[in-house]
Amino acid sequence: MRIATIGQRLCLISGGGAVDVQTASGGQFGPDPAAVYPRWEEFAGWAASATLPEPVPIATESLGSPSPSPRQVFGVGLNYSEHVAESGLAHPETAPPIFTKFPSCITGPRGEITLPPGGHTDWEVELVVIIGRIAAHVPASSAWDYVAGLSVGQDVSERITQLAGNPPQFSLGKSYPGFGPVGPWLVTPDEFSNPDDLELGCSVNDVQMQKGRTSELIFSVRDLIEQLSAVTPLLPGDLIFTGTPSGVGMGRNPQRWLAPGDVLTSYIEGIGEMRHTFVAA
Ligand code: ZN
Repeated sequence: MRIATIGQRLCLISGGGAVDVQTASGGQFGPDPAAVYPRWEEFAGWAASATLPEPVPIATESLGSPSPSPRQVFGVGLNYSEHVAESGLAHPETAPPIFTKFPSCITGPRGEITLPPGGHTDWEVELVVIIGRIAAHVPASSAWDYVAGLSVGQDVSERITQLAGNPPQFSLGKSYPGFGPVGPWLVTPDEFSNPDDLELGCSVNDVQMQKGRTSELIFSVRDLIEQLSAVTPLLPGDLIFTGTPSGVGMGRNPQRWLAPGDVLTSYIEGIGEMRHTFVAA
């Protein structure tokens, strides 16, 4: 199953088009995408057996984040070995560093993102996990049962703010408006032959910058849910940005930052593509 936010309404993606959930369910489910996650099991059951009307073409420019107002957004640092190497930081031994992207930065898979003046703004393509059940003290072995689905994310990062101070605190530099695009939709784990091994990558102006596979994660989706839920309950609709592979602008020689007019394209195999244009403030 795939669900999307289109024109701020919850839709099912079916037959290459979109079906409005409120209409198709006769009002059993409302239009607010955020409201479906606390009822995820009931919703998935309805969607599996519903007789759907003819889909309409997807209004691509109206796509929003499939979970537009998560209560918690977890960011994971240093979770691919080659990215650890390019960052010059120590390899995490027992757990990765965790930060937040404050939820006001969450946006959809299309459109413009404003560059903070004077900043060094960088890309980080990432697999995003969307939680579908309250997860507290979940063992890795059953962690996938708590996942509603997967999406493409960009952990857009302004490096000067991210790395200022000693010790540096990551969260603010990763939370400017528009710095948390997610989309183009949620894909449920059962749609993948192996949800732990998906190619992901991104390009700037059609030049590929990042390419990796989620099988290379140092801490897998299972590990992350076990470690995070051991401390804080994960809530329906929450997002986990699982970390970025190598190829970020900060790790290049010379370093490369996003500039006005740059087009960033981000993809994950079996999910889809996002496309953003960066603009001056
Ligand atoms: Zn990241």
